[in-house]
Amino acid sequence: MKNKLIVISGASGVGKGTVLGIMMQQRPDLSFSVSATTRPPRPGETEGVHYYFVTKERFREMIDQGAFLEYDAHAANYYGTPREQAVEKLARGPVLLDIEPNGAKQVRRSMPDAVLIFIMPPSLEELERRLRGRGDTPEDQIQMRMERALWEMEQRFWYDHVVVNDDAERCAREILTIIADSAEESN
Ligand code: 5GP
Repeated sequence: MKNKLIVISGASGVGKGTVLGIMMQQRPDLSFSVSATTRPPRPGETEGVHYYFVTKERFREMIDQGAFLEYDAHAANYYGTPREQAVEKLARGPVLLDIEPNGAKQVRRSMPDAVLIFIMPPSLEELERRLRGRGDTPEDQIQMRMERALWEMEQRFWYDHVVVNDDAERCAREILTIIADSAEESN
């Protein structure tokens, strides 16, 4: 059986991190593709666990070397999926990619059997509440993030599946079912 890349997208504040954490607890064969980024670490983020934090120069070097399966620049920073790491992890089980729609489109082109899943908030009001509630986003950025969120949500129509994060446990279960079904289909 060939393991698949599972692309998970959803606006900032939709709760992707929580959902992914629950999924990986329940299916230890799933692994997480750790992206490289040029943005600085947030409190509580660990090098090599949440991201590889690199300089813009290093990121550009990696682009030139063809080291990325996909990459994108947004919010004044680069984000990319290191190709080699993803391929290595695929040998052991399905690999989860937490990436935004521009990157998801590149994955669709280069890995056509990847499964693309978009997570929606229960409502826009709830998303805005969660963005504020997190307390780490300055007010002037909330508006920018909401605009970006609206654009991302418009992209959901070309994803394979759209799920709603009304409850993180339930949402995680729904995605695990999608992953199990997609493995069956490819058998
Ligand atoms: P944050 O800065 O909040 O961790 O992430 C911002 C956005 O970047 C999220 O939507 C996340 O999915 C996206 N992102 C994280 N890593 C990657 C990546 O490797 N490639 C792409 N295209 N987007 C990413």
